Amino acid sequence: MISYLLEPTLTTSEDAQQVGENLIIAIDGPAGAGKSSVAKALSAQLNIDRLDTGSMYRAVAAAALSHSVDLHDFERLVALSRGLEVTSEGRCLVHGEDVSHALRDPETNTAVSVVAATSEVRTILVALQRSWARNRSMAGVIEGRDIASVVFPDARLKIYLTASVEERARRRSDEGAASILRRDQVDTSRTASPLVLADGSRELDTTGRSIADVTSEILSWLQ
Ligand code: C5P
Repeated sequence: MISYLLEPTLTTSEDAQQVGENLIIAIDGPAGAGKSSVAKALSAQLNIDRLDTGSMYRAVAAAALSHSVDLHDFERLVALSRGLEVTSEGRCLVHGEDVSHALRDPETNTAVSVVAATSEVRTILVALQRSWARNRSMAGVIEGRDIASVVFPDARLKIYLTASVEERARRRSDEGAASILRRDQVDTSRTASPLVLADGSRELDTTGRSIADVTSEILSWLQ
């Protein structure tokens, strides 16, 4: 199992500059907009890897909950973030502990936006995300909230997916509308890298559209 271990902290956009080809596809958007489904389809069609950065924030939150860490204790959150690894299969380990089973727990849904609002945590995870891409010669589909605005501002393609609240709630029926709306509110209003439509991002409303349809429109933008 190959793991991509944390590198020294990198925070400036120069650190994200491409080395070699640039086939970074950055996908941002609120919960339930279709990011994961579309990212999976793009990754399969283009034969490049996919990184779900939401899982990384979820892993830190799940580890914090399992070790009863106060979600406002940023030093302990930093220590957990430093122990995060994303395996080649996309599993998240925190200090070697596989927390995959807890990523979608209701408690993690509640905790993750608090953890993700911590700038010290973001600095560490952003460095890991850039390292992941460098290890793939800057080719990959990366989804999250700040990918086009902060992590890869020079991505080949920057996409902001949206969908109606009703449709997003339907897609995330396991989580519930109240929870996704609360996360959206925290994610868009936080100081550290809030969810925004980044400069140069193309906005795409996926309401009522199939994954195949959305994916083929995005692929046409690469021509
Ligand atoms: O994508 P997903 O819904 O799994 O993300 C879970 C949470 O992780 C988001 O609500 C947000 O708080 C955080 N997140 C983030 N930045 C990212 C990806 C996710 O803040 N790039």
